[in-house]
Amino acid sequence: MQPSERAPLGILGGTFDPIHNGHLRLAEEAVTQLGLGRIRLIPAGRPAHRGAPGASAAQRLDMVQLAAAENPRLEVDAAEVLSEAPSYTVPTLERLRAELGDARQLVLLLGADAFAGLPSWHRWTTLFELAHIAVATRPGHTLELAALSPALAEQCRQRESAADALQARPHGCIVRFPITALDISATAIRTLCARRESPRYLLPEGVVDYIAQHGLYLEPEENAF
Ligand code: ATP
Repeated sequence: MQPSERAPLGILGGTFDPIHNGHLRLAEEAVTQLGLGRIRLIPAGRPAHRGAPGASAAQRLDMVQLAAAENPRLEVDAAEVLSEAPSYTVPTLERLRAELGDARQLVLLLGADAFAGLPSWHRWTTLFELAHIAVATRPGHTLELAALSPALAEQCRQRESAADALQARPHGCIVRFPITALDISATAIRTLCARRESPRYLLPEGVVDYIAQHGLYLEPEENAF
């Protein structure tokens, strides 16, 4: 077994509509700052918390695979995309536990905005029995306990730890880590594409080419002719 297969596994879920350099830089800095071996990218099939994505699940998976092909630390998990069921994180983590065993450290990576929304997630307190949570402080989204729901702030008070705690046990800690501010969002990329402006340098070149080849995110009326 490679050392990277024993070290904590990072998990980065998202709509990835499309995947961009903000996601990839988050993964890269999480590896270094948190001592992760690899990161598993899990595109949501039918995201439970938002409207229908602009690209199909298969296209979002293709784009994640193109991005991951450039980095041996990244692996892609297609299970949510292949499932008919809505995508929820707790069942996904239960599946990973069944696959990887009880001893492996699993670290769910979240931006601070996603973390603040945790109490609306299905069975959210069960997350801590399955994984650690590492919160990346993303530009414009700080993590003030006073701004969190009381239940989530209480979880932070009980569980917040330094990064080395992630190595010591398989689940249950909350760790914060600052990342380089890259003010990139999939929404802004979709808006650029809709206006036929270039999203180049905001996401991997192969993904830019894929979006152009498949005519993704164009305004419907411009697409009609
Ligand atoms: P959208 O604009 O469509 O809402 P998004 O760019 O926020 O999408 P998601 O797929 O919803 O991307 O995000 C997946 C995860 O990546 C979330 O935890 C989110 O906080 C994090 N994330 C997204 N963009 C960045 C960024 N620029 N820097 C750091 N983390 C990010």
